[in-house]
Amino acid sequence: MTHHPSPTTRLTTSRPRRLVVKLGTGVLTSGIGELNTARIAAVCAGIAALRARGTEVIVVSSGAVGLGMGRLRLEKKPKEIAKKQACAAIGQSLLMQTWQAGFAPHGLTVAQVLLTHDDLRLRSRYLGVQETLRQLISYGTIPVINENDTVSAAEIKFGDNDMLSAMVASLTGAEHLIILSTAPGLIDLKGTKEIVPVVERITPEIEAMAGGTTSETATGGMVSKIAAAKLATKSGCGVFIASGAEPEILAKLLCGRGPGTFFVPSGLPLVARKRWLAYFQRPAGTISLNDRAVPVLREQGRSLLAVGVTGSRGEFAAGDIVNLAGPDGIVFARGRTAFGSDEIPALAGQQGPAVAALYPARKRLEVIHRNDLVLL
Ligand code: GLU
Repeated sequence: MTHHPSPTTRLTTSRPRRLVVKLGTGVLTSGIGELNTARIAAVCAGIAALRARGTEVIVVSSGAVGLGMGRLRLEKKPKEIAKKQACAAIGQSLLMQTWQAGFAPHGLTVAQVLLTHDDLRLRSRYLGVQETLRQLISYGTIPVINENDTVSAAEIKFGDNDMLSAMVASLTGAEHLIILSTAPGLIDLKGTKEIVPVVERITPEIEAMAGGTTSETATGGMVSKIAAAKLATKSGCGVFIASGAEPEILAKLLCGRGPGTFFVPSGLPLVARKRWLAYFQRPAGTISLNDRAVPVLREQGRSLLAVGVTGSRGEFAAGDIVNLAGPDGIVFARGRTAFGSDEIPALAGQQGPAVAALYPARKRLEVIHRNDLVLL
């Protein structure tokens, strides 16, 4: 029998230039709000070893709400938003103390970065965050990022830190995102009952393997990890999902010795601006297209013209990000519209000269210019 190297060795690099490590509440704590100091120390040692070999590491850490709950001796996660936000405020400082203490023996300094969804959704703030992270890394510190839960109301939330970590990986151009949780990887419950070592493409079957979280303090679960992996792999970043309890897990993953699941990055990463357009936005509505327009956008990479539009849903203004759907209702692209939803009825199905007659002063008449359009 010929010897095959582990399937991940050919896909990963044991010395990535930059990686994002995301830790779930369940990895950092044992029981509600009790820190698992030994595990945190082990993770810090693993990260310090990577740093010593020249890899830049950014940490995305959950645990603020959980640690706050522990400090207040709450057994159950409160339902009220204000209570959760208060827990996060209490727990966040404990969380940073923990990271600081964990990295101190390695001579490493941590930097707290708290983000809301708006910080990445607005282009100017996105660029600002990118610049600050770059600076923190060049100062030799380890950024420790969490969502700014205390001020994130429902509509500006990332949802969970899995998605936040994928956005951070995309934003910083990290080679790998390593999501450490209590799960050992993606398990094929229907088939082999074992960890799936490599996922080449996230298909509906892969998505169906994921089930929701059950723990009191955690938020994500496998569903959100797969969603995060989808975003990150499309940005050209390889994603690992593995157990944070496994000794020396970071080193093992990077040299292809698992155990865990590796999601192969897509071969064609989007250019950074399109990435931001595609994944960092909350579309304000949907523009529907006729069946002639769909392949023109999909296969020829052209702009969307009024003639291909059949209608729209939702309220949006010129400059907003919208989804694009074909006649089957399936969303296949996203872009920045040059017209608001109130203008769409008059434009839909019109040929160029008719649109020009409606908007005599405008130079550009595309509904969405191809540079502002990205296929999903
Ligand atoms: N930001 C939350 C916290 O630190 C966690 C969200 C998550 O686990 O996804 O408690």
